[in-house]
Amino acid sequence: MSSDSERPGIVHRSDCRVCGRTELERILSLGPSPLANAFLESAGDFAGEAFFPLDLYFCSGCSLLQLLDVVNPEVMFRRYLYVTGTSTTVAEHNQRYADTLCDLLDLAATDLVVDIASNNGSFLQCFRARGVRTLGIEPAVNLAARASAARDLLDRVEYDTIYHEHLSYFSVTSLLRLCERAGLAAVRVDRVHVHGGSLRMYLSRSAVSHAPEVRDLESEERDAGVAAGERYRQFARDVERHRTDLRALLSQLSGNGSRVVGYGAPAKGNTLLNYCGIDSTLLPYTVDKNPLKVGLFTPGTHIPVRDVSALSDQNLLPEYVLILAWNFAEEIMAQQAAHRARGGKFIIPIPEPQVVR
Ligand SMILES: [Zn+2]
Repeated sequence: MSSDSERPGIVHRSDCRVCGRTELERILSLGPSPLANAFLESAGDFAGEAFFPLDLYFCSGCSLLQLLDVVNPEVMFRRYLYVTGTSTTVAEHNQRYADTLCDLLDLAATDLVVDIASNNGSFLQCFRARGVRTLGIEPAVNLAARASAARDLLDRVEYDTIYHEHLSYFSVTSLLRLCERAGLAAVRVDRVHVHGGSLRMYLSRSAVSHAPEVRDLESEERDAGVAAGERYRQFARDVERHRTDLRALLSQLSGNGSRVVGYGAPAKGNTLLNYCGIDSTLLPYTVDKNPLKVGLFTPGTHIPVRDVSALSDQNLLPEYVLILAWNFAEEIMAQQAAHRARGGKFIIPIPEPQVVR
């Protein structure tokens, strides 16, 4: 990696990590921002908190959208609080994905499944249950590119999925350029709906060319202005408008005397809270099912994380619940039927702030 400046804990890269081009355009600045998983234990930790640039750059050589400020993995993963197995939706998604792969590749006991960035291994467990050997690799390798679908990122204004751990935001176009450099061909693509929507691409060393369905997606991206960057500039304008709209809504509710609290303390929520400047004056607390997060404070915005039972505290019943873990909104709203039954409402922030009765 080449770099043009360094300070403790962070390196600023000066070239594209796919094609090496050095003339890169800064599309959007979401920072300075703390690390999205750096929850704080007490108010005594607030003053010493570290903030890092969270800026998105576009490469016109290969169309990759990326962060150039790379935080040292030892700083980033000192305390890692995301536990894959805590959501029912994710567990079901893992099972379906494992079944697809077992059937597609006809996996047997002699095969080996390697999960890079395996977190707590809950995905691999699905393969072990079918008698297939597994190997999980963790931590810090999830610094490798996250193959989230830039189509969804852009169209649904999912800027909150941008944080320091996610260095690359692949479009199909940029992923194909990377494959070509590595001697790989994309032979199949699936659209999956977990984590706000992703593309799952199957790569092969033996195929000689990309599948027609993959080429079609590349053409769609060219037509949408992804390859030339204009689509990303529009995305940046959408993100700025989103901040204005969400802040206006919360300020209006606060001015009316309505109590708004959060649901979820996901890493993505911290990008949104920090960028929009939403702190405990607008959101007095948020709740989370992950017991490791309860009792902590969100990084940067210092919002207390409470147990989910706080939502039914008779003395402090909220009128509105802002769903920071919006990709699980359906599951959360179903679980919080009591909130709805007493007239409570939900706010789903992405793609645009929406009040659900
Ligand atoms: Zn590039």
